[in-house]
Amino acid sequence: MENCIFCKIVNGELKSWKVYEDEHALAFLDINPVTKFHTVVIPKAHYVNVLDISGELFSHVMNAVKNVVELYKNKLGVENLQLVHNAGHYAQQDVFHLHVHIVPRAVGDGGNLKWPLANPQWRDEFDDMLKKLV
Ligand code: AMP
Ligand code: ZN
Repeated sequence: MENCIFCKIVNGELKSWKVYEDEHALAFLDINPVTKFHTVVIPKAHYVNVLDISGELFSHVMNAVKNVVELYKNKLGVENLQLVHNAGHYAQQDVFHLHVHIVPRAVGDGGNLKWPLANPQWRDEFDDMLKKLV
């Protein structure tokens, strides 16, 4: 995909700090890290996000995520982390090549991915909401 920065990384046109690679997936350090070893895992082929990819290939990407997590656990002692996938402009996706963030977390790292707003009052609507799925 022309002008996609992550495709350029896959093609070797753009420098990246690769931590993992297999047949279908690549993982490299996020250039604007929230915490040390903040990483993005991508499919090598261009898909926009989870809405655009087959379940089989998405499973493969998630398997690569698991391999990177194991690597960080074994080599770095990472025991706390957050996985994030932003899908779509209004879900704060900025790079439109599918990626899963791995954000290692540790005491006092200054990171914060807490949602600022919760809506417990919507529990009254749960029964009606489920009817929409039938
Ligand atoms: P998102 O907001 O979920 O689309 O995340 C996109 C992520 O890609 C951000 O965390 C950026 O810091 C990261 N990013 C953008 N360009 C690069 C790059 N050239 N190499 C590594 N990470 C990048
Ligand atoms: Zn791409």
